[in-house]
Amino acid sequence: MNFLCTLFIALALIPLTPLHAADVAARPNILFLFSDDHALRAIGAYDGSINKTPNLDRIAHEGAIFTHAFVGNSICCPSRASFLTGKHSTANGVLGNSSKWNGKQWVYSRELGKAGYQTAVIGKWHLKGNPTDEFQHWDVLSGSGGQGSYYNPEFISSAGPSKSEGYSTDIITDKAIAWMKQRNDAKPFLLCAQFKAPHTPRTPALKDMASYDGVTFPEPPSLFDNYATRQPFVADTWMKISGMDGPGLNIGPTQEELAADPKKMPHFLEDMNAAQRAVWHKAYDPRNREYARLKAAGKLNGKDGVRYAYQRYIADTVRCVDGLDANVGRILAYLDESGLSKNTIVIYASDQGFFTGEHGWAEKRWMYEESFKFPLLIRWPGNINPGTRVDALVQNIDLAPTLLSVVGLAVPKEVHGLALQPLLGGATPADWRKDVLYTYYDGGTPKARGEYNMPRHMGVRDERYKLIHFYDYDAWEFYDLKNDPQEMHNAYKNPAYAGEVERLKARLIALKKQYEIPEPPKLTAKKKR
Ligand code: CA
Repeated sequence: MNFLCTLFIALALIPLTPLHAADVAARPNILFLFSDDHALRAIGAYDGSINKTPNLDRIAHEGAIFTHAFVGNSICCPSRASFLTGKHSTANGVLGNSSKWNGKQWVYSRELGKAGYQTAVIGKWHLKGNPTDEFQHWDVLSGSGGQGSYYNPEFISSAGPSKSEGYSTDIITDKAIAWMKQRNDAKPFLLCAQFKAPHTPRTPALKDMASYDGVTFPEPPSLFDNYATRQPFVADTWMKISGMDGPGLNIGPTQEELAADPKKMPHFLEDMNAAQRAVWHKAYDPRNREYARLKAAGKLNGKDGVRYAYQRYIADTVRCVDGLDANVGRILAYLDESGLSKNTIVIYASDQGFFTGEHGWAEKRWMYEESFKFPLLIRWPGNINPGTRVDALVQNIDLAPTLLSVVGLAVPKEVHGLALQPLLGGATPADWRKDVLYTYYDGGTPKARGEYNMPRHMGVRDERYKLIHFYDYDAWEFYDLKNDPQEMHNAYKNPAYAGEVERLKARLIALKKQYEIPEPPKLTAKKKR
């Protein structure tokens, strides 16, 4: 750990309210770049990557890459609430995607504002309830139930609604750079630039639509998982790549078919103007004609169909990530040109990871590694050495206390997360947390189905082992991540692990107590598909 890092930890321990103007001006700027559903595997800097992301990689190479960053609840709204509050879902009230956001509760961004920071959130907010005073400036995607559109998106701000022409990732970047240019440069800033990409329906930027034809992406080893050692509900969830069609794969009518019958316009093309749609047709019509030909010839059955859908799905993911990476590059270039790079902490994260074919899925929600983890990269010149790798267990609840500590504010006792500063040298201190908690509530049973036909679950993961409790089914899973990193063999009943299972059961009880997690609410959802 270098001197400056030690200094910041020391500062973090001293409550410094109110801050004097001169102290505030010396604080670093904070730029939080946030995406939606970005798998670690789709970032070049991560082990096992399938694509190139030179600009995201630059953040990692000039700073730190976190290899074991976990969400507490792998779904959009709850994760976003945990980033803002530093708390697990039951404490901030956002248990699932239908939970209302209580914007009056404590959030780190308001505290930074009170301490003299200029604060802004631009882009995808995706909490149920627009921002109020969590940030001083807000301008967030408003269409499609808060998901926003990829093309010509609508925004809402304190000034009212607006509409922009173009591609969402470009527009959010334009707005973020414009905000940095107009700010009062006597004060430090917190800017959260939050992108929709690469969330479904994965629609790339026009310039990226035609790429990767003829490229075969590597398949994950668990693509054809048969779930043999697990409960039947694991195989019954509605997130399989097998059978994917339509908007999930950019499969739609050709230009000629649409001209003949405009009523065939799929929802995911409705937001585009005619010129944008023409580019989409040029790129996707040949692929979709080939799809129709293969389907008619009976060549998309069984594993062939899964392989085909996987390639379509992963190519669109990578195309969306390319647009994201290019815009991260634009933002980094602006920081360089404006002289802001040296005194700005740049953080890149996603609201969760995502299955990119692992276990045959294209979704999140589970406590399995691919959706439990999220990508986390931090560049902080003078405080993080270039090329730092942090393998310690961290969580999304850690962002809020980390940024409070940066500013020199005390972390309230009720915040669950831990400031990450002790890890920034790369080594894990002996007293760092040894395990992380997971809770997922947007689930159900066959009698009261949850979203995606998912089961509710909670669990604990330490450096090597993972225990998951599907409490509505009284079912358990246990994985040895060292010997079974793909999580293909549920070892809950293996006598060799009996001691570890009991140890983790005790840890789960202890963590629930530590975070004051109440018993899960009764199931009420009754959804069919
Ligand atoms: Ca998400």
